[in-house]
Formats: sequence, C-alpha cells, structure tokens
Amino acid sequence: MGMRFAVIGSGPAGLYAALTLAQRAKVTLVEQSEKLGGTCVLYGCIPGKAMLKAASLSAQAERLGKRLEFAFNEAQALARRASELVSKGEEYSLSDAGVEVVHGRATLTGGTLRVNDETLRVDGVIVATGTKRPEGTASDDLPSLNDFHKIAIIGGGVGGVEYAWLLRKLGKEVHVYEAEDLLLPKHDPDLRRAVTSHFQKLGVRLHLKARARVEGNKVITEEGAQEFDVVLFSFGRKPNLEGIEVPTDERGFVRVDRYMFTGISNVYAAGDVTGSFTAHEAMRKGIVAALNLLGQRTAYDGTSVPKVIYVHPQIAYFGDVSNGDCVRVQVASLPRAVAERESDGFVKVCFKEGRLAGTVAFSPEAEGVVTLASLMRGKRAEEILLEQIPHPSYLEAIWEAARQYLAKKGRVNSARP
Ligand SMILES: Cc1cc2nc3c(=O)[nH]c(=O)nc-3n(C[C@H](O)[C@H](O)[C@H](O)COP(=O)(O)OP(=O)(O)OC[C@H]3O[C@@H](n4cnc5c(N)ncnc54)[C@H](O)[C@@H]3O)c2cc1C
Repeated sequence: MGMRFAVIGSGPAGLYAALTLAQRAKVTLVEQSEKLGGTCVLYGCIPGKAMLKAASLSAQAERLGKRLEFAFNEAQALARRASELVSKGEEYSLSDAGVEVVHGRATLTGGTLRVNDETLRVDGVIVATGTKRPEGTASDDLPSLNDFHKIAIIGGGVGGVEYAWLLRKLGKEVHVYEAEDLLLPKHDPDLRRAVTSHFQKLGVRLHLKARARVEGNKVITEEGAQEFDVVLFSFGRKPNLEGIEVPTDERGFVRVDRYMFTGISNVYAAGDVTGSFTAHEAMRKGIVAALNLLGQRTAYDGTSVPKVIYVHPQIAYFGDVSNGDCVRVQVASLPRAVAERESDGFVKVCFKEGRLAGTVAFSPEAEGVVTLASLMRGKRAEEILLEQIPHPSYLEAIWEAARQYLAKKGRVNSARP
C-alpha cells in the first residue's frame, strides 16, 4: 500500500480508474462539481434513458392500440431522480473502496497536480476530465428545461436523432436541421435511408441539406427563418483541458498510446477527453489506464465496441459494414416481431472471408442484437449456426443472417426452418 495515485474526474472513466487503482494503492479522486458521475450520470446516459423509457412505453402502448401519455415534466422528474440515485451509488462505491474524494478544480502543469491551491504529491495521475458541453442549449439541459412546444435541433447525428425521437414522442413539435441529405452522417447508407424515412413518418420535421445559422431562438436557412421556443445544439463538445498540460492531437483531444499513456511520466488519460464518446469506452479506458499505472501492461482494444442510439426501434452497430458480404434480415420476418406488432427495421450482418465482421441493426432490442454480434466477431457463419439462440427473439436475426449467408454460397438448405 505504498503507492498513492490521483484521478481527475468522476465520470465513467474516472470512476472505473479509481476503483481499479484502489485495489492496490491509495487513491484520491478530484471532482470539480458538487455531485459525482460526470456527463453520463448527471446530464447524459442516465437522465436520457429515464426519459426515453417513458417515451418508449408510450410508443409500445400505441402499437397495441392503447394510450399512455407522459408529460414532459413527468419525464424530467424521472430523469432527475435517476441521476440522483446513480450519483449517490457512485459516492457509496468509492467510499466502500476507500477512495478519498476531493471536490475542487484540478490543474496539472509540469507534471504537478494542484487542487484548491494545494499540491497533491502522488506517484501517478489519470486525467479523465471528459468534455464540456457546446455553447447554447444542449441535450445536457433537457432534464431541467422549462416546458416548451416547438424545438429546433441543430445536427441530425447520433445525439440529434436520439433527442428528436424522444421529444417527438413527448408531444413536441420537433425540427431537425442537418447539412447532409440524410440523417446520421458517416453511418451505413441503408441505416441512414431507413432512419430518415422513419423519422419523416413520425412527424419530425426534417430540414435536410440545410446550412443553418442560429440567431437567438431563430434558425435561418436558404428556406427562410423560423422562430422556436428552444434551439438545441446536438454536437460540438470540446475536451475539458483548462489548466491540464498534456499532449493533444489536431482536434484538441489528449494524445495517448494503446496503454492510455500520455508520454508524460506517470500521466495517463482515459475517456471522452481522449476522443471517444461512449461511457463504456470510457470505463474500459479508465481500467486500462489504471492497470498500466499499477505496472500491468494492458493495451486498449477498441475494435468491436458496440454503439447504441436509444430510439425505437433501437439503432446499434459495431465493426465494419462498409464492404464485405452482407445479409439483411427484415425485422418483420422475425416471429418475435410479428408477436409484438413490430414491422419496421432490419438487421444487416456483414462477413469478410466467411467471418462475422460487423453488424448494424435498426430493430427492437438492437442493443442486445449488436452486442451479441460483437461478441461473435471473427466467428465463421458455420460456427454461428451451431449456437442455440433463444426463440422467439430479435437475437435470432444473427443466426438467420448466417444461414442466409451460407445459403447464398450454396452451402446449406436455404429454406427457412
Ligand atoms: C446527452 C448525452 C447522452 C449520452 N448518452 C449516452 C449513452 O446512452 N450511452 C453512452 O455510452 N454514452 C452516452 N453519452 C456519452 C457519455 O456521457 C460519455 O461518453 C461519458 O460521460 C464519458 O465519461 P468520462 O468519464 O470520459 O467524462 P465525463 O463523464 O464528462 O466526466 C468528466 C468529469 O471530470 C470533471 N472535471 C473536468 N475537468 C476537471 C478538473 N480540472 N478538475 C476536476 N474535475 C474535472 C467533470 O466535472 C466531470 O464530472 C451521452 C452524452 C450526452 C451528452
């Protein structure tokens, strides 16, 4: 127990780094905010999912011919409660693990860590300071915004899509401004087409190929100007690095190697501040940074990370779906979907040299479908057919894709069992 380390930031990266370090050393976690949890717990994943649950229950009831309505402020109350509970849970976990928590703004200059005008003498530091929100109103503000009717969302990427769906389902008039001709730039073209048309059917007003300029609550494009109650920016997060001297890349994120090492002796970094944007990548990076600081050489592998956009049907993807041999299974063809009156969407599974290389799903429970596919990465289609996947489930789409892939190659009977 001779070593002492510090972690800056209590988001997913900082939390998992601190818990890992605490197994073998004394740890101080420094957090500038009053509450623990970072972006994920206080403004992002947790409150967002609490609100989405309310919206998706309404959507499910509607499909079964029933009405279940949540007012915006009811969804907000669920969100705030969820954040509070998870933040408190983090406080208990850190305390149980013997991590000392210090509230204050940390600086790291010339390798010296200072908090609240004092120098902390430690054997190593993990920078897990995350990102700061964009200027103006952002999705971070949703749990605390005053109620409104008409909202413009600038950007039709991951965040824009997730929050446009949520707010539409909570009864708002939602306009999305996107510079490209389809939602979800840089994603699979099949997915982009399907999601764009699904959103049009939901009544989300899409302003595509729109170069939007914002002045106060007004959005100006070549089509003209429109006034909104709220204009929300869904992109533009920047690394939180004021007072933290570490090498950065051309985008301003911390430059690290596969071991999360910054190049400065005993200074590691993890999480969004290193340029990734999910909580699970942040957690893994936090653990990897901590293990390396403890002297155990462990590389970070980000090759098959599943990513999820929590709308309904869900959107999820992992790996390479850009080229290769892909099979598309329609959601409507799955017995579970028929039972649940789900008809929209597809699961596309791609093989390279006969091995599973990537998957994109726009389907109910896509989160599970793609996570299972990512765990099967590298398996041959023949091996996937030997797996026994619960029936009736959406997970069966992977099995069905493997069967269709082999049928295309003339290797198994192509009739549906
Ligand atoms: C609206 C929204 C929804 C999201 N939904 C999801 C989702 O569903 N699933 C998912 O995987 N990801 C989601 N994300 C992304 C997820 O929130 C981040 O990937 C995750 O929070 C990154 O964790 P982190 O620990 O790197 O940084 P953060 O969570 O940002 O934590 C950094 C912490 O460091 C503190 N800090 C910064 N500078 C200092 C300093 N100098 N001194 C002391 N403390 C400091 C900050 O106050 C903060 O608490 C969402 C993000 C947003 C904005």
